[in-house]
Amino acid sequence: MDKCSFCGRDKKDTQLLIAGISGHICDSCVEQAHGIVDEELRSKTDFNVDALPLPKPKEIKEFLDQYVIGQDEAKKYLSVAVYNHYKRLKQSRKNDEVEIEKSNIIMVGETGTGKTLLARTIAKMLHVPFTIVDATVLTEAGYVGEDIESILTRLLQVADYDVKHAEKGIVFIDEIDKIARKSDNPSITRDVSGEGVQQGLLKLLEGSIVNVPPQGGRKHPEQKMIPVDTKNILFVCGGAFDGIEKKIGNRLNTKIIGYGATKDAERIDRVNLLQYIAPQDLKSFGLIPEIIGRLPVLTYLNPLDKGALRNILTVPKNSIIKQYEKLFEMDGIKLNFHEDALNYIVDKAMEFKLGARGLRSICEAIMMDAMFELPSKKIEKVDVTLDYAHRKFEKINIKRLKVA
Ligand code: ADP
Repeated sequence: MDKCSFCGRDKKDTQLLIAGISGHICDSCVEQAHGIVDEELRSKTDFNVDALPLPKPKEIKEFLDQYVIGQDEAKKYLSVAVYNHYKRLKQSRKNDEVEIEKSNIIMVGETGTGKTLLARTIAKMLHVPFTIVDATVLTEAGYVGEDIESILTRLLQVADYDVKHAEKGIVFIDEIDKIARKSDNPSITRDVSGEGVQQGLLKLLEGSIVNVPPQGGRKHPEQKMIPVDTKNILFVCGGAFDGIEKKIGNRLNTKIIGYGATKDAERIDRVNLLQYIAPQDLKSFGLIPEIIGRLPVLTYLNPLDKGALRNILTVPKNSIIKQYEKLFEMDGIKLNFHEDALNYIVDKAMEFKLGARGLRSICEAIMMDAMFELPSKKIEKVDVTLDYAHRKFEKINIKRLKVA
């Protein structure tokens, strides 16, 4: 009778016995061995920071270029910040006198211009746990909503509750502008959603040991908290900061009054004021100075113009059109989008102010019938012409186009 050479179980007592050259292994030993391998490899990568792949800023940017169109300035800032962050991780194990400070990042730009995509792509490259949280759901302890600590619950979850791993992760806090104080005047009556949350967030950003509820929320009061050190967690914040251009404009206007004013004024590009964003504008918008101080890397994203939208359709490594081509290819069908059909999609996204998010819903509307019918037909090639795109798009209810 064959036996498992590891645990000695008879073949009849196992679900499966795999034969090797000079022995056998049963299903439960395979599973156990797999667990051991997983754990071993993980602990090796955990403690060996030097083994972390540390791409140079230029390489990080080149990687981002494959997935994100334009936004060169933001890419540059992000690449440098991430590079320095990892240098800092390596250094923090040595007792160096010059301590490198954390380079948390804040990105300002209209919604749908690539902020989340940038953060997500960076995390993909670095193979670190990554999570996105929405600042709007955060409240101070005691108020309805999520406690600030729950930001780290999500990170723990994506790291499979491996605390060491989570402690090197990246957290993207979206809609950070929504927790801005409603007024620049701190003496105004306390507002629950704003300043208190900012104070709470401060603790996470600056690096401290935070007790994290492993299941999040307040639904499990009995759960045992997990202490997480945020010292090496990189926080990337993003927000649209609607109306901040006005604050930037005001600041620039007051500065340029006086000697040499006309010369400076001429040089200001009034169309895209975001490029001049400075920390004091965030303060005027209602972020407390302590938070701004903990987000030393400030960068901006440009609004997407027609050219950018057109590129987003086809250029990124996993662009929307490439994804449709792949889907049809799996049915043996070659999909061919005509250039004027692509331009039509871009025009509609611009016309209805749907931005990059709208591109996908417009494509989906145009391709739905084809995706439904063609797999049952024996055809090898399909052309999406301008006329076809137009006909399909006219048929749909524009209100149903999802942009979220
Ligand atoms: P934000 O976080 O700025 O609101 P996202 O990064 O979530 O916007 O962008 C929404 C979607 O639009 C992305 O998933 C991506 O498909 C597309 N997109 C937006 N900006 C870009 C860009 N610059 N390059 C490529 N795709 C983009």
